[in-house]
Amino acid sequence: MLSKAWREELWSVGGLLAVLWLLGLQAGLSGWLVPVGLIVYLLWHLYHLLRVARWLDRSSKRLPLNTPGIWGYVYYRLEERRRKAKSGKKRIGRLLKEFKTSTRALPDATIVLNRDFHIQWLNKAAKNLLGVRKTDAGQPITNLIRHPELQQYLVAKEFEKPLYLQFRVDIHLSLRVVPYGKQQYLLLVRDVTELHRIEQMRRDFIANASHELRTPLSVLQGSLEQLETGIGDTSELRKPLARMKRQGQRMMSILQDLLTLARLESRHEGDQPQSVSLTVMLEDIMEEARAASEQLGGHRFHLDIEEQISVSGQREDLYASTSNLVMNAVRYTPAGGDITVMLKRVPGGARFEVTDTGAGIQPQHLARLTERFYRIDTGRSREAGGTGLGLSIVKHVLERYDSRLEISSQPGAGSTFAFTLAEKYLEESGQRVVSSAREVS
Ligand code: ADP
Repeated sequence: MLSKAWREELWSVGGLLAVLWLLGLQAGLSGWLVPVGLIVYLLWHLYHLLRVARWLDRSSKRLPLNTPGIWGYVYYRLEERRRKAKSGKKRIGRLLKEFKTSTRALPDATIVLNRDFHIQWLNKAAKNLLGVRKTDAGQPITNLIRHPELQQYLVAKEFEKPLYLQFRVDIHLSLRVVPYGKQQYLLLVRDVTELHRIEQMRRDFIANASHELRTPLSVLQGSLEQLETGIGDTSELRKPLARMKRQGQRMMSILQDLLTLARLESRHEGDQPQSVSLTVMLEDIMEEARAASEQLGGHRFHLDIEEQISVSGQREDLYASTSNLVMNAVRYTPAGGDITVMLKRVPGGARFEVTDTGAGIQPQHLARLTERFYRIDTGRSREAGGTGLGLSIVKHVLERYDSRLEISSQPGAGSTFAFTLAEKYLEESGQRVVSSAREVS
């Protein structure tokens, strides 16, 4: 379209100049009319340039679209652009209005934050839930929700998981940060006080029920012991009594594991971390493991343990997690199999690994092993004295140390259960004194 307008313009100017030249010749003015025509043509352009400049200043003025030649084309294009920009602006305005209306209606507090996490915009729920006012716009969000955990969460910028906070004494919040656009963030805050209360009730119920059941069970176990010593060696009651004792012992182990889980699930802000030597702790665990192994026909143990790896944490928790992994290897590896226990410093922390040459685990079970009471072979687990809660305890303990259980297994060949504790939990650097490939059968 531009080329057509341009061609027309050139033809008109060319034609006009030719006519002026001929007229000039006829009137005896030789070529004088041509420069006069050029000056008029120049003035015409200057006039339209001025119009465009004025229009750019105040685009509200309408442009003369019916102007002939190249200027008609220029005016048409400018007008078209203005129309498009106007409708785009209207559409964005409408979208913004819809966004504001819908977020205003959201029951969750919604706050728009800029790249420095300063408040840009907030909805009504945010005002009600957090007590934020319109005048707080521009302030950092951490001034309004004063919590060191929020500060760390925002600095770390790991927003895949929500953050749970206690806001004031009686309000529990779940916070989600959604990055969008050019370093803008949408902060979604939900009141989860009720959910938190129900969750707490569930935990308390399990803990209380386990606690309450423990006492009568201990009495029953004591009575069974008494009965056992009271009857003769040949009594036909021996077998059922032994069965009852075994089942009682199983129930006690389940209750103990449930209590451990309940304790791990409730936060212990007041718990003072202790200095726990993993190396020394592992010696106790290995003693237990050897005793259990002997009862099952014996295994070959290989130890690769660095001395002096100490952790700042809770001994009970660390003991529960490491001993569960070692005891599982003993339980699920046939007699004569190999069990390797490794504790080493690695870049970024300390790694603990238990490898066995047991039956291994089919891949479809791997993701579910840490669920409560999930067992691949229930009969086998029971027979081996398992509660189905061991790996769940391990998972909970490791979560407290920002770590996670890594399981790799080859069915028929064996399994490896491992975790890494980050440097920040370690107390002093390890010294490599290894009791490698020490065999105990
Ligand atoms: P359990 O008390 O039954 O051992 P856990 O939570 O400790 O419960 O383990 C869950 C299940 O994972 C076990 O029942 C067992 O089937 C499987 N498992 C755990 N450790 C091993 C292992 N080293 N080799 C093979 N299977 C294992």
